[in-house]
Amino acid sequence: MAASTIRVLGAGIVGLAIADELLRRGHEVEVIDPAPGSGASFAAAGMLTPTGELWHGEEAVHRLGRASASLWPDFAARLGVPLRTGGTLLVAADHGDRQLVDRQVALARAIGEPVVELGRRELVGHEPRLGRVVGGALLPDDHSVDPRAVVAALLERVPVVAAPSAGDPAVTVVATGTALPPAYSALVRGVRGEILRLHADAGDLPDRTVRAWVHGEQVYVVPRAGGEVVVGATQQEHAGAPVVTVEGAWRLLDSARRLLPGLDRAELVEATARDRPGTRDNLPLIGPTHEPGVVLAAGHFRHGVLLAPLTAQLVADHLEHGHVEPAVDPRRLLHAPSPEGTR
Ligand SMILES: Cc1cc2nc3c(=O)[nH]c(=O)nc-3n(C[C@H](O)[C@H](O)[C@H](O)COP(=O)(O)OP(=O)(O)OC[C@H]3O[C@@H](n4cnc5c(N)ncnc54)[C@H](O)[C@@H]3O)c2cc1C
Repeated sequence: MAASTIRVLGAGIVGLAIADELLRRGHEVEVIDPAPGSGASFAAAGMLTPTGELWHGEEAVHRLGRASASLWPDFAARLGVPLRTGGTLLVAADHGDRQLVDRQVALARAIGEPVVELGRRELVGHEPRLGRVVGGALLPDDHSVDPRAVVAALLERVPVVAAPSAGDPAVTVVATGTALPPAYSALVRGVRGEILRLHADAGDLPDRTVRAWVHGEQVYVVPRAGGEVVVGATQQEHAGAPVVTVEGAWRLLDSARRLLPGLDRAELVEATARDRPGTRDNLPLIGPTHEPGVVLAAGHFRHGVLLAPLTAQLVADHLEHGHVEPAVDPRRLLHAPSPEGTR
């Protein structure tokens, strides 16, 4: 290994996007992962929805998400992976759900995001396959991508090995999702997400992502070319391995079939559970640690697909110019080492 080699631990969407960016900039890179693409990136729905995900007090998450969303068209084009760009529908099944949609619309408006409120008729005009609904909104700038296609395209460009070669790298970038090395493991917790994949006839597929509240239950349905429909996702703090539970699958299916009754005809193809890498403040960890030569790119929680191209740029910019984005600086959550000689 050359003394200038950058080692990337982890070949999920984050590690691979970083490695791809570093290779493009002419660096020598070694990516290590015994099971590339098998973590949270394997489960992800691929929504690029900074506004749909907007929440109170999380303006920084949104700002980063919108910045990364603007990088996606070029990133996807370079990888030869299509983006689905019809926007995202927010849908309310009853009047209680309507309040939840209204709250999301107000949050979006407050930060100047475009949002088009839709009455029941207009909503059904946009998506005639909807069942009983009372209204909703269109988020015209929130799109989607197939993360498995992205990971496959990145794996064609980025060589990955199962174990490190001899010698020390110049820098190690840790992009191992929820599985951080012991010194950092307390920074990230696993938040289980269960998600289903169906196969439907073209006539039963919605035209764009539908994010809905169905009698208080949240569900999203993401269509893909070729008939795949992704139905997600549960969210649960837990200590054990991520598994698909009967309750999780039932809740998702119950809400999805009320929302889009044509999905009753779809084939249930896959049920998957993975842990999202959550941090204390729901912001990722991107940048230096107090350990020389160790950079983190982890903790992307619900937004790792959306944030992958921005993360790649931030890591490469940091390695080349020392730049650190304060909102995601891992040192905000790390204790500084005690000065020498003091205890
Ligand atoms: C159900 C679900 C739905 C989601 N939907 C979306 C969505 O719509 N949009 C969005 O933006 N995000 C979504 N997410 C979040 C997104 O999936 C994650 O934020 C993202 O995949 C994190 O990517 P990563 O590369 O950091 O981690 P991972 O994909 O988990 O990859 C980590 C990799 O590290 C490897 N690894 C582990 N330990 C080691 C080690 N010691 N050495 C080397 N390699 C190691 C693993 O094998 C794995 O390949 C969703 C997540 C879930 C669970």
